[in-house]
Formats: sequence, C-alpha cells, structure tokens
Amino acid sequence: MTLESSFKKVKERVYGALENTEMQTGINRGMDSFQSKIPRIRSKNDVQQLRSRVREIKSYSSRNLNELLNQVREAFQNNGVAVYLEKTKSDALSRFEKLTEGDRLIVKSKSLVSEEIGLRGFLTSKGKEVWETDLGEFIIQLRGERPSQMVAPSLHVPREAVARLFERKFGRRFQSDDLQSMVNAAREFLREKLERADVGITGANAISANEGTVVTVENEGNVRLTMTLPKKHIVCTSVEKVVPTTIDAVSVALTQSYFAGYDKPTYISLTSTPSGTGDIEKVIVRPAQGSKEMSVVLVDNGRLEASGGELSDALRCIKCGACQMVCPTYSVAGPAWGGPTYTSAIGLVWTAITGEPEESEYLSYFCLGCDACNEICPVEIDISRLISRLRAKGTGNIVSDLK
Ligand code: SF4
Ligand code: SF4
Repeated sequence: MTLESSFKKVKERVYGALENTEMQTGINRGMDSFQSKIPRIRSKNDVQQLRSRVREIKSYSSRNLNELLNQVREAFQNNGVAVYLEKTKSDALSRFEKLTEGDRLIVKSKSLVSEEIGLRGFLTSKGKEVWETDLGEFIIQLRGERPSQMVAPSLHVPREAVARLFERKFGRRFQSDDLQSMVNAAREFLREKLERADVGITGANAISANEGTVVTVENEGNVRLTMTLPKKHIVCTSVEKVVPTTIDAVSVALTQSYFAGYDKPTYISLTSTPSGTGDIEKVIVRPAQGSKEMSVVLVDNGRLEASGGELSDALRCIKCGACQMVCPTYSVAGPAWGGPTYTSAIGLVWTAITGEPEESEYLSYFCLGCDACNEICPVEIDISRLISRLRAKGTGNIVSDLK
C-alpha cells in the first residue's frame, strides 16, 4: 500500500464519519454526561492528591519497567499463578490457545489488550463460544465492531440503536427510554453464560510487582463474576500495568475510575492467587469457591521497545479515556479517528506503539492542537506533543492532499 493511498483511506474514513449523525449522537451524549460530572470530581482535594501521587508512581514505573517485570514474575510464581510474558500478538494468541485447550465456553470482561490482539475472534475461530460480559463490549460484539472509547467501548451507539439491536437479538420490543429493561436483558442472557463458563478472562487496571496482586475496578459486577465463577481465571493485560506496590496499584485503579467520570467505583477487586480458605485451623486450602486456577498473560506488543523512545511518555497512561472525552475531533469523527483498537487523543499514540505507526501518522493530521487533552490528563502526559511527533514522521505531501 502506498503512503498516499493509505492517507486517502484514513481521510475518507474520517470525512465519511462527519455524515454519521447516529454515531455523533451517541458520542456527544456521552461527552456531555462526562463533562457535566468531571469538574466536581477533579476539584476534590483527595482526588488531586491521588492523581499527583499516581503521576509519580507511573513515572517511576515506566522508567523501571524491566525491573518491575522481573519482580512481578517472581511474585506470581510464589503465589502459584502461572505468568507468561508474550512479545507479539501471535505469541499471546498461541498462549491463549494452549491455556484454553479443551475448554468450550469462555466469558470475558473488558480488556483493551484483548481487543488489541484480536482475542475474541481468535478463540471463536478455534471453535470456542466466547461472550463479552461488559455491557458496552457485549453491544459491540453483537454489532461486530471494535471499541470506540477506552472505558465506554459502545459510546458511539445511542440508546435508540441499542434498543433496535436488542430487539433483533432477543426477539422482543425495547423502548429506547427504558434503559433498565435493556440492562436486565443483557444481565439475564450473560448470567447464564457466566454460570456455565469454563474460563473467565479479565483485564487489569494495575498489578503490584511486590505481591503479584491484580487490581481491577468496575461498576457492573461482571468482572468479579468472570474471575470467580469459571474454574479457570486468565488475566490478559499489558506490561506497562505493573507498578511497585499493591497500594500503588489500588491508587492507579481509583484514579482511573475518577477520571473516567465516576465519583466512586462500585467494586475494586484485588486478586493474587486462585481461591482458597484458611478457615480450618488457619491452614490454607486451594481451591475454595472461586477459580481453581489463575494465569496471567502480560502482552508486550511494542511497549518495551517504546519505553526507550520518543513516545515513552504514553506508557504512563492509565487508560481512563478522559482525553478522548474532551477532544473536539473525536466529538465529530468518533471512532473513525483511530486505529483498530485505540481511538483519538492518546489513542493515536497507542496505535503507533502497538503496531500501526503509519496509520497513526495519517491520523495525527486531524488533531487541532487545542491541548484540551493535556489539560484533563490525570498523569499530565503532553498528548498533543506526542501527536505532533507522530505528525513529524509523516511527509508534507499529506498536507496538500488534505485540501
Ligand atoms: S490537541 Fe488534538 S487530540 Fe488533544 S484534544 Fe485537541 S484535537 Fe484532540
Ligand atoms: S492519556 Fe491521560 S487522560 Fe488519556 S487515557 Fe491516558 S491517562 Fe487518561
């Protein structure tokens, strides 16, 4: 593919999105809701202190990634948890194939890294039945789409479109203003899958190197069910999630939740081992009621190489998605302004790091340089400067093609 034809493709996609009023309705309702809540959340003293602490934690962690990875592998092994560091997407997929050998039904909670490696499609192609248990992921699974935003993957799908989708899926009518009935339908359908599943795959918001503890934050309750009901729990996440201590990891998860626009998380889970009990004479017996086995797959896919380069600041990102929710280009172009997994603002940089550098260069030309993303970022990444670095890698020919 020539550089020009690739850029033309990106341009056509972005310009085409400007006509998509349904997508813009979904995105803008979500952005309005986020922007009505975030000023109050950000203004709290404890949130300000926490975000400042998390900026230091992530700064330290991104500079000491290799050391933390060595430490966390040892910690997981001490916990009886199998841990795998996989360099490429295909290495990670092969690992998942082995880990799920003989299993039939798999449930998943939201994991951007699993989207990055195409995990659901891969496992389905191997004859597994795979269901997303996060409502937004379930919606895009039914629509055959990729995520449009880091925390809210179906942000581009307004309620009217969800009602139509669920009518087709469940064979009954849904009123677009009755959101509860749509949530109930998904709950009923997915609960049956959760109860029968052989494997539960979750992501991680952060992992502590000292104790090998995986921290997840959520509101739906699906992550806890996914990690505890099936006999096997596999964590699919990426190397930059590792931070020094468990308190650090909880701080990252809390900050992610606040800057995703939630004033308090419903559930935070800390998972270090398969389930166990010490209730008889304080002797630990495993398994108990939760998972019988736990494995962790840490995906690199370009991150370790990026850690020494000009995009390394992105490794401090805690994937809260706040930068996307204030971005004017995203408000009109939505997920069309993005790569296969990551969209808009810092998503352009993630697109470059995780294997699509040319695509990210073409996308960078649609950034307005307004700096709204920088202003909201809890860990103070200079996102617009990183995007300008992507642009600097492109050629001047692209600019003339924009006219
Ligand atoms: S600087 Fe670019 S990425 Fe950041 S908010 Fe403005 S348009 Fe979006
Ligand atoms: S760059 Fe900052 S605002 Fe954007 S997702 Fe990452 S941490 Fe959040």
